[in-house]
Order: sequence, then structure tokens, then C-alpha cells
Amino acid sequence: MIELRTPAEIEAMRPVGKFVSEVLTALKHASKVGVNLLELDALAHKLIRDRGAESCYINYHPSFGAMPFGKVLCTSVNDAALHGLPFDYTLKDGDLLSLDFAANLNGWVADSALSLVVGTASAEDLELIAVTERALAAGIAAARPGNRMGDVSAAIGEVAHRAGLKVNTDFGGHGVGRTMHGEPHVPNDGRKNRGYPLKPGLVFAIEPWFMLGTDEIFTDPDGWTLRSVDGSRSAHSEHTVAITKDGPVILTAREHEHK
Ligand code: MG
Repeated sequence: MIELRTPAEIEAMRPVGKFVSEVLTALKHASKVGVNLLELDALAHKLIRDRGAESCYINYHPSFGAMPFGKVLCTSVNDAALHGLPFDYTLKDGDLLSLDFAANLNGWVADSALSLVVGTASAEDLELIAVTERALAAGIAAARPGNRMGDVSAAIGEVAHRAGLKVNTDFGGHGVGRTMHGEPHVPNDGRKNRGYPLKPGLVFAIEPWFMLGTDEIFTDPDGWTLRSVDGSRSAHSEHTVAITKDGPVILTAREHEHK
């Protein structure tokens, strides 16, 4: 069932959106050569505790996960695309790192992700990240009353196709509210004028993620991390967005990054 939120409920979701954006900003600044993924997870955990929030990930155990996630942050490095389970790995110069974070504060959830390169970045990696960011912006721009979900999906997919990338539609955006994953599913490619008619009150995550050489993934032996089948690198950008009568509001906007 797709739940619609009142304007007051959307206002009540702003603090968790801000918190999630602040944690991602802190993690972005902490992601440097020589830093271990477990240290990033520990930092996120500390920020959750300090704020009196709750992790959406630590006890998360959906059908596609081998066991409860056990960490509070997804850290996907290089060929890891999604759901990267933090492990004892020290970041190296040139690593492409995707950070995906969701939390619950006062009974509301927000979910957001970003990618960055640690140390020296290749032009190819920066462009891959930029494509996901442009796709996210295009998807958000299409998230307005009068459009359909297919318009959001098509806007995302169009950016990927223009960049010569294939799109995996198995994992994409999702409704966000009292829990992390609700309806509707938001594929990262689709057809305009199709699907759910967008209405004020819909709150959902839009999350383009693209791999440079493929649209196929496999699950790492850790039971969680999804990797590209060809070893190519992956990037991911995500925001939680509320549709209002005036258009989209980015609940997880990071200061200085989004107008
Ligand atoms: Mg997420």
C-alpha cells in the first residue's frame, strides 16, 4: 500500500532528513586514505547514539540478505555497487566509495547515499559519480504532482543511457516513512506516462546507481555486498524526497550542495 503523508507529517520528517544529511557529510569528510571502513561505521554509530536516533540497518534482515546486516552504514568500494557490508578494509588512494545511510528519528525514517573518490580521482570515476548525481537531479525534477512514477524512472534512465550506461532495475528507489522500505518501487529506468500517478504527500527515496560496464550484479560471499559481474566500478546517489503541491522537496539535502 502506498501511504501519503500530510503536510504536517512531511514537516515532522524534516529532522530525520537533516540528521541523515549531516551524518553523510561527516562521513564524507572522514573518508580518507588510511581510514578503515569499520571506523566509518563506528563514526556513524556514534552519531546515531549522540542524536538518540536508531539504525535502520543493524537488525535489517530482508529475504535477500543472508543474515541481519549488523552494521549501521553501507560502504561499497569500487566494484561493490550496493549494500556493501563494512569490513576490515583500509581505504586506498583512488578508491571509489559509496556510502548509504538511513536512520529513524522520532519514528520517522530518511535514507540517502553519495559516492566519492578517496585521494586521487580518475576522470572516469568522477564522471560516473556525476552521472548518478545528474540522474538523481533529473528524477527529483520529475517528482511532481501530475506526473507518473514512470516519468521519474524515465528521467533517471535517460541520463544513464545518454552516458552509455546500462541500467539494472532490480534495485531502485522506494517509499520511505515509518520504515525504510515501502511501496512504491522506483525503478531507475522506465517509460514516461506509466505507473503510479504522483500525488502530494508521497515520500520516497530516489536512488540511481550505475556500473560502468554492466547492469548485472552478484552477491559477495559476505551475503550482502552486491558487486558488478565484470568488476567494473559503481556509483550511487540517493535522496529522500517529498512531493508537495508545489513540487519536490529534498528532505536529505546536504548544505552547500543543493539549492
Ligand atoms: Mg539508501
